[in-house]
Amino acid sequence: MEFLCPSSLIDKIMRWIKVVMVLFSVFYSLTLRCLGSGPEKNNRIPDIPGYYTLKCDFHIHTVFSDGKVWPEIRIAEAIKEGLDAIAITEHLKYGKRSKYKEMQFEDRNRSFEIAYETAKNSDLIVIRGVEITQGMPPGHINAIFLKDANIAQKDFNETFAKAKDQGAFLFWNHPNWKSPDKSWEQDGIPQWFDIHTKMLDNHTLMGIEVVNARSYSKEVHQWCIDKNLTMLANSDIHFPIGMEYELVTEHRPMTLVFAKERTEVGIKEALMNQRTALWFENNIIGNENFLAPIFQKSVVVKKVSYHEKIAEVVLENESAVDFILENVGDYSLFNKTKIFILKAGNELKIGVKTGEVLEQFALKFKVHNLLVSPNDCLVAQISCNTD
Ligand code: ZN
Repeated sequence: MEFLCPSSLIDKIMRWIKVVMVLFSVFYSLTLRCLGSGPEKNNRIPDIPGYYTLKCDFHIHTVFSDGKVWPEIRIAEAIKEGLDAIAITEHLKYGKRSKYKEMQFEDRNRSFEIAYETAKNSDLIVIRGVEITQGMPPGHINAIFLKDANIAQKDFNETFAKAKDQGAFLFWNHPNWKSPDKSWEQDGIPQWFDIHTKMLDNHTLMGIEVVNARSYSKEVHQWCIDKNLTMLANSDIHFPIGMEYELVTEHRPMTLVFAKERTEVGIKEALMNQRTALWFENNIIGNENFLAPIFQKSVVVKKVSYHEKIAEVVLENESAVDFILENVGDYSLFNKTKIFILKAGNELKIGVKTGEVLEQFALKFKVHNLLVSPNDCLVAQISCNTD
């Protein structure tokens, strides 16, 4: 039996502490490395028959107006978040340029050019735009797909005309925005002015932001439906995106564009024809013609079997949206309440009380976070064939 004097015992303990510390630091660094590199975040919204579903943000600022970051950062952020396209839209006010005196460039194309050059070797599509910053009415209007951003005129109607001459797509930003000068709308209710009717009639106004940053306007949503305007959801980001959104658990608002081709031309054609939906928080907002196929492509029936007379259906949600489902079908469920969540990227087994063994039956759900109008959500059917 070995006799340990107190000092050699302390040495032994110290050695063990060192070993544990080394093992811990190796484990910690490996864990960090794993967390840093992947698994890839699920940001999948499926393509629908006939169209690519492109994730876009058409309202972005840099230091070339009142944003806080250099254009290159906007490209890195968009690629990291898995966007397909962004538009750089600096404020355009006659005679005014950047907020910063070091950034007083004559040429309003500069931020787009830097962003475009940065994205050249990536798949990200970068679109040239401006935000024509007028008081209300008509408010702030974005013009995108410009060929030259130097369009500022003393009369804003002439600025709009210059944008239209270049074939731009013009949309009204945040109609419900609370102006800091308190000159209009302090109650969050947007107001439609005569000038907007004129702009609509002469095809100057083609779309509106239903979602801007963290605001959603049900009034604007209804305007888009009633007036056949293109719906948009944009970030209007000024700060670094990671300072405004917890990107591990949430995402910036995005306009989902249903394009025939994954190009700038394809995106423009889709916007001109109202083929968009909005990905806002855990909701998708838009026409049923787009929301129904998104749901059908997202939810896969993996298995249908029977345990006695109860059907067991395994559903998989391949999308990045947690679907909030309410059972409105013919059968009640064995293991779920009327409303339950089918989580993004997850499988879920549900028991269906069909009463007898059926070869074929249908489930019917109200999908509470797929909004087809301000007050209505999608109702979708899923057919099940017993294995
Ligand atoms: Zn803006």
